[in-house]
Amino acid sequence: MAPQQLRCPRSSILLARLRIGGIDTDVCEDCGGLWLDRTEIARFQNSNSVFGDALVAHLNQFPPSLIDHSIRLTCPHHPDAVMLRRKFSVAVPVEIDECPECGGIWFDTDELAQIRR
Ligand SMILES: [Zn+2]
Ligand SMILES: [Zn+2]
Repeated sequence: MAPQQLRCPRSSILLARLRIGGIDTDVCEDCGGLWLDRTEIARFQNSNSVFGDALVAHLNQFPPSLIDHSIRLTCPHHPDAVMLRRKFSVAVPVEIDECPECGGIWFDTDELAQIRR
């Protein structure tokens, strides 16, 4: 299957594929957003992860414009699926957007950095 061309749910531009730690991540070079599949998150979440450090450093290159959290985002994989804004976990109450279809997570600009604290 050819890799799907994903678009940023905020900026609508094509996401850039960034291979890091053996995992293909999808990054928006406009707003610094990040799309991760459910299975990919663990690799970057740990605050000791050098891959997480590299990914956060990469995202920091793209200073965000205004992020309006009142706008409901749709999943890059499922254009019909409105993502749910929820806390990442009980222990990590940072709000992220999660697709109810695939469980993938959209991190706005500094949200990945926040869950790693
Ligand atoms: Zn974007
Ligand atoms: Zn989805």
